[in-house]
Amino acid sequence: MSETPLIRLRGITKTYGEGNTAFQALKGVDLDIQQGDFVAIMGPSGSGKSTAMNTLGCLDVPTTGAYLFRGVHVEALARDERARLRRRYFGFVFQGFHLLARTSAQENVELPLIYRGEPAASRHSLAQRALERVGLKGWEHHTPGELSGGQQQRVAIARAIVTEPQVLLADEPTGNLDTHRSQEIMELLWRLNAEQGITVLMVTHEPDMAAYAKRIVRFVDGVVESDERNPHPVALQAGVTHETVSDAEVSGIAGKEAPHVA
Ligand code: ADP
Repeated sequence: MSETPLIRLRGITKTYGEGNTAFQALKGVDLDIQQGDFVAIMGPSGSGKSTAMNTLGCLDVPTTGAYLFRGVHVEALARDERARLRRRYFGFVFQGFHLLARTSAQENVELPLIYRGEPAASRHSLAQRALERVGLKGWEHHTPGELSGGQQQRVAIARAIVTEPQVLLADEPTGNLDTHRSQEIMELLWRLNAEQGITVLMVTHEPDMAAYAKRIVRFVDGVVESDERNPHPVALQAGVTHETVSDAEVSGIAGKEAPHVA
C-alpha cells in the first residue's frame, strides 16, 4: 500500500444549523482510506453516515477538520474546484437509482460525459462499454420503466463508472432490491473493486452486503465507533478461493488483465 492514503479525514466535525437549533452530526472523525479499499459504512440511523458520505464525496464541506484527497485539502477548495475534483475522481450510486425516466439506458449513462463536454461519438462508445461492464449489453435502448430494479441499479452503476472514477460512493445501493438482485449488485461492486481497483465506499444497513467489503467502519453518534478489516470478504461464488481473490485484486490494481473469477 502506498504511504499517502487516497483519502485522509482528520478531526472532521459537521454542525447543521446555528444557535439553539445547532446539531453536531459529526463530532471528530479520523479516517484513512487507501486506494483499492472496499469499505462498508454501517451504523444506526442518525449516526452521521450520510453526512460522512457527503463530505467524502466532496458534496459538502466539514465545519472543522481536514479532508485530504490525494494530499489536496478539499475543505480549502472553492466550490467550483471541489465540483471539478468530484466530477473527475468520484462516481455516485444511490438507493433510488436516480435515472431519468423516458430516457434510454444509453442516454442515462452518457449524461456525465455531456457535463464533461465529451464529443457525441466518444460519448456513445464509452457509454456502451460501461453498460457492457455491468452486464447490460443489448439493453442500451431500454428506458428505466422497461428494466428490473436490479437492471436499473446496473445502469446507475454504469453511469457512475463511465467517467473512470477512482472512488465509487454507494449509499445503500441494495436498499430497494430483493436478496437475489442485491447479491448481483454486490458481486458487481466487488468485481469493480477487485478487478479494476476502484475504491468502493458503501453505506449499508445489511450485514450480508457489508460482508462483501474488505473493511467495516461503524459510526455511532457522529464518531467512528469501530473500524475493522473483514478477514474473509464474500467471494463471487463458492469455489473462488481467497488466494484467487487477492490475485485478482493485485492484478486489477496493477492494471493488468485480471484472472477470470466468475
Ligand atoms: P445517517 O446517514 O447515519 O442516518 P445523517 O448523516 O443523515 O445520519 O444524519 C446525522 C444527524 O444529522 C441526524 O440527526 C440528522 O437529523 C442530522 N442532519 C442531517 N442532515 C441535516 C441537515 N441538513 N440539517 C439539520 N440536521 C441534519
